[in-house]
Amino acid sequence: MGLFDSILSGIFSGGSDDKGCDWYCDECDAHMNSQPGFTTSSGEWTCTKCGYVNDVTEDNILDEYENPYDDDDDDDEGLSVSDAADIWRSHGEDEDYMFGYTREELEDA
Ligand SMILES: [Zn+2]
Repeated sequence: MGLFDSILSGIFSGGSDDKGCDWYCDECDAHMNSQPGFTTSSGEWTCTKCGYVNDVTEDNILDEYENPYDDDDDDDEGLSVSDAADIWRSHGEDEDYMFGYTREELEDA
């Protein structure tokens, strides 16, 4: 096992070699993690059930696995104070556009 593999194993769930994801065969939907000897280290895995060669690289991990908490950061609380101040000024320093910041914070920005 190389250094990179060691790092990956450390990051992804307890030393298993599945990158912390559930992998399903693109062809037959078999749960490949539970297939004997399953590994993502080579970048592909041949389904033991149907023989289909699946891409098991990180590129093929669904978005929901990559960043489960990254979805709505930009919607409400994600506005920086300087952005908020720009919008606030462009609305004539309207209190409806203070985005939870105080007048002092917006004036400082
Ligand atoms: Zn299969």
